[in-house]
Amino acid sequence: MTIAHHPLYAHKLPEGHRFPMEKYDLLEGQLKREGYDDHCHWVCPTPVADEDILRVHDVQYVHRLSQGNLTRKEERASGFKWSEMLILREKTIMEGTRLCAIEAAQRGVALNIAGGTHHAFRNRPEGFCLLNDLVISAAHLLHSNLSKQVLIVDLDVHQGNGTAAMSSDLHGIYTLSMHGEENYPFHKEQSDLDIGLPTGTSDHGYLTALDQALAQAFSEARPDVVLYQCGVDVLATDKLGKLALSPEGCAERDRRVFTACRQHNVGVACSMGGGYSPAINDIVSAHMTTFNLARELWT
Ligand SMILES: [Zn+2]
Repeated sequence: MTIAHHPLYAHKLPEGHRFPMEKYDLLEGQLKREGYDDHCHWVCPTPVADEDILRVHDVQYVHRLSQGNLTRKEERASGFKWSEMLILREKTIMEGTRLCAIEAAQRGVALNIAGGTHHAFRNRPEGFCLLNDLVISAAHLLHSNLSKQVLIVDLDVHQGNGTAAMSSDLHGIYTLSMHGEENYPFHKEQSDLDIGLPTGTSDHGYLTALDQALAQAFSEARPDVVLYQCGVDVLATDKLGKLALSPEGCAERDRRVFTACRQHNVGVACSMGGGYSPAINDIVSAHMTTFNLARELWT
C-alpha cells in the first residue's frame, strides 16, 4: 500500500487560505500515530512534469496559472488567492495522485493525502481546484500503456464537473459521478454515468444507488484501473453536503467501492476530495476509515 503525502503544506499557505486544507496535516499525523509508518510505502512527491499537465490542460491557462496572471474572475472562481506556494502545492498534489495511479495500475492500492480536484477544467479553475489530478493521472496511465481503460469513481457530494468535461473527448476514460442533485455545481456537466441524489438521502438510499451505479459502471467500462475520489462531504454533519450519511454509511460506501475493485481484480488510487464538517475530527476520522479499509482489504 502506497501513501503520497505533502508535509506541512497547509501551514505554508497564508492565514485564511488554509481552509479546507488543514485536514490533510491532521490526517497525516493520525496515520503516523496509527502505525502506518511501518507497513506502508510513503512517497513525498515533487511537482508534476509540465508534459503531464499539458497533455490535458490548455497551455495558455497553465502559463497564466504558473505566472500568477489569472484574471480576477478566474482567481475568484478558484477560491484561492494566488501565490507561488499555492501553485507548487497544487503541482505536487497532481504528482501524488499520478504516482498513486501508477501503483494502482499494478493492481495495488494507493492513497494520496490530498487531491480529488474534480472541479478544475481544461482551461479554468473552479471551487478550490486549479488542475485536475484525476484526468492528469488517467491520461498518463493511458499514454504510458499502463492502462487501456480507466474508471473514475467520483463519490464526492459535488458533481465532478471538470472531470466530466475534460474526459468527454478522451478515449479510455469512463466517468461515474454520484452526487447531490441540488448541490453545487448548479450547472452539471455530463459524465458517462451521473447519479444525482435528492437532498437528505441517507445510508440506505445512498448504498442502494451505489450498488447499481458500480455494477453498471464496471460492466460498461470494463476498467483495468480505478481512480476513486472519496470526498467525505456526503456526511450528515457536512455544512455544504445536503446529504445525510452516517459515519458508518460513509465507511460502507468505501467498502463497497473497494470490494468491487477486488472482485474485478483492479487496483485503485484514492484522492481525498471534499469534507466540510464543522468538527474537523469528523472529517479526519472519515478519511482515516478509508485508509483503514484499504489496509484491511489489500494487506
Ligand atoms: Zn465536494
